[in-house]
Amino acid sequence: PLVLGIETSCDETGVGIVRGTTLLADEVASSVDEHARFGGVVPEVASRAHLEAMVPTIRRALRTAGVTARDLDAIAVTAGPGLAGALLVGVSAAKAYAYALGKPLYGVNHLASHICVDQLEHGPLPEPTMALLVSGGHSSLLLAPDITSDVRPLGATIDDAAGEAFDKVARVLGLGFPGGPAVDRLAREGDPAAIAFPRGLTGPRDAPYDFSFSGLKTSVARWVEARQRAGQPVPVADVAASFQEAVTDVLTRKAIRACQEHGVDHLMIGGGVAANSRLRAMAEERCADAGIRLRVPRAKLCTDNGAMVAALGAEMVARGRAASAIDLPADSSLPVTEISVPAVVERLL
Ligand code: ATP
Ligand code: MG
Ligand code: FE
Repeated sequence: PLVLGIETSCDETGVGIVRGTTLLADEVASSVDEHARFGGVVPEVASRAHLEAMVPTIRRALRTAGVTARDLDAIAVTAGPGLAGALLVGVSAAKAYAYALGKPLYGVNHLASHICVDQLEHGPLPEPTMALLVSGGHSSLLLAPDITSDVRPLGATIDDAAGEAFDKVARVLGLGFPGGPAVDRLAREGDPAAIAFPRGLTGPRDAPYDFSFSGLKTSVARWVEARQRAGQPVPVADVAASFQEAVTDVLTRKAIRACQEHGVDHLMIGGGVAANSRLRAMAEERCADAGIRLRVPRAKLCTDNGAMVAALGAEMVARGRAASAIDLPADSSLPVTEISVPAVVERLL
């Protein structure tokens, strides 16, 4: 099926077009520069930017894919989780296009999309799929027997998400916002063994699949402050590399353990933090050692985009899943277990 996907859960206006598991267009307009001076995403600013970028980005995606709106079989849109006002812009646009074109509408879960996007890179997902989802708002281990209908959380962060930790450490190091890519770059010049930062929840009695990154973040901040108080220079590259090593060590260790204990022979890593070069390299090494096949999409498909939404929408269509209703609500706290938002009333179309 030919599906257009719309993503507006945070600060990226993403529109993607896929045919089945083939990527035809992936257009992203980001308002990240408008948020940089505030040190974080400002919801009202993001919503307005989505409103301005929406139609031009849809047009660009159609042009890139070389299709017309009438050719589409369905419209998919992120229904949650995310910023309420930002989601509303995407959902409203999707409804308008679906209604005007007389096409079915699929309101889908942003987190399941971060996993399903890998079908565009490596073909159909195995069933079940073991997924490590690491993003700005989430860090979870998920077992998905069927990405369109059944996602089971094995564990999740009990405090900060991995991406959040990257962003906060970047702020401590004066690297600006967003911090993940900056820490990644700087860490390449540092020594990952320079400082032994704590590995949260890795004790024998700790929940095997839960994560904790707030202690690590605090530990980095204290270490830097102690240096500054002593009037000594802060070796920022070493701090970045050592912090990044602590995060990736815990993530990969727990993900591989989850695969082994559930008898799953492959691992999918998705979400913005999956763009991290050290996480990708370490996962590759450790998965190879453990005899686990690794699936990580190219970096551009890991951070928020519309192609991931289209990918999940296309899979829903292919599997004959029910479409959403035209009164589809945006749900800012949609749980990961709810992969699509069903009809609220009988379909009106
Ligand atoms: P969620 O998906 O949980 O709703 P989100 O959509 O805001 O959150 P994503 O766009 O999936 O998050 O990911 C953004 C996060 O990924 C940010 O925290 C950012 O710092 C982080 N990130 C992006 N690139 C890298 C990188 N190369 N290394 C580490 N972190 C990165
Ligand atoms: Mg973003
Ligand atoms: Fe995301």
